[in-house]
Amino acid sequence: MKFKVDQELCIGCGACEADCPEVFELDDDKSQVILDPVPKELQASALDAEESCPVQAISHE
Ligand code: SF4
Repeated sequence: MKFKVDQELCIGCGACEADCPEVFELDDDKSQVILDPVPKELQASALDAEESCPVQAISHE
């Protein structure tokens, strides 16, 4: 599974990094995906992070 953060939408709130620091990391006030693809054991946590994003900036395929 691959995750993406829309840099235009991200407001740098840090919720995704708090939920799943293995996959999302704030860099210059925007979240970056630091693990691609996301391994099976981290998918649930990354999906939680996607759901908790207040501006729906995270997507996956
Ligand atoms: S939760 Fe959403 S808005 Fe907040 S840092 Fe992560 S991608 Fe950006």
